Amino acid sequence: MKVLEKAPAKINLSLDVLGKREDGYHEVRMVMATIDLADRVECESLPEDKIVIRTTAPYVPEDNRNFAYQAAKIIKERYSIRTGVEISIDKQIPVAAGLAGGSSDAAATIRALNRLWKIGMTYESMLDIAKKVGSDVAFCIKGGTALATGRGEKISPLPPLPQCWIVLVKPDVSVSTAQIYREWDDQPALHPDVDAMIAAIMHGDFQAICHLLGNTLEAVTMKKVDEIARIKAHMRRIGAEGILMSGSGPTVFALTQRETRMQRLLNGMKGYCPQVFAVRLCRSAELLSKYE
Ligand code: ATP
Repeated sequence: MKVLEKAPAKINLSLDVLGKREDGYHEVRMVMATIDLADRVECESLPEDKIVIRTTAPYVPEDNRNFAYQAAKIIKERYSIRTGVEISIDKQIPVAAGLAGGSSDAAATIRALNRLWKIGMTYESMLDIAKKVGSDVAFCIKGGTALATGRGEKISPLPPLPQCWIVLVKPDVSVSTAQIYREWDDQPALHPDVDAMIAAIMHGDFQAICHLLGNTLEAVTMKKVDEIARIKAHMRRIGAEGILMSGSGPTVFALTQRETRMQRLLNGMKGYCPQVFAVRLCRSAELLSKYE
């Protein structure tokens, strides 16, 4: 038997770091939204008691370093599953890009194995497994729009964003999230107004959302990746309504509600960077429907 799940990427509309905790993690406040750029995760039963990972992308580990493997291992142990699974990940989300591709694959694996092995997990049990795999995995279980606090694992849902286009530009470099956080510790930081962003989302005020986009990690990654400033300036010239780096970068996104402007951004940025996408938002209901 086979089960297929969509694993959509996220963007951060507001990302603040409050400081480093005693356990080594950083305390964060992030507003995230799921977008329609997605990997496909297919789980197929194996008679032998093993976990096999296959991915379509180079540089993504196919062993126990893959977050999907880690999620499957925890589920097998917790629910005493004695059969195996082959997890095939069709990667469409750029890797190490600030879009939580690996975390979303793990979340999709949790949803898929719940169906494949007919476990009947509640949302809370899925969250509990997600938190053990990584800080961003909990958000990716349900997706949609949400505030993530703690080390990113405490999720408070927010209303959906006003529908818009998201144009993403991924420079041809990857950055290490851990290293960006380490460098953030040693620099004075700008803090975005997360509460004002939440209020703008509550009011469905698209212009305010664009105006309030902010990421405390952006300055750190921009020092290492010159292209980010060039991409932002070029997007601004073309006329994006709001522009920001996602997560620890280096992907930059622009928001617009106008299709003509989306087309202009897409065409304008294509000649500029090899990886450019224009996508819509992905609603949380799409991911939830299979286990509710
Ligand atoms: P985040 O936004 O959560 O910081 P990211 O988008 O920057 O994440 P990922 O694409 O999730 O980064 O990948 C980070 C690293 O995780 C990769 O370099 C890779 O070694 C490892 N990894 C483990 N599992 C996966 C997976 N399923 N897909 C992609 N990378 C994975």
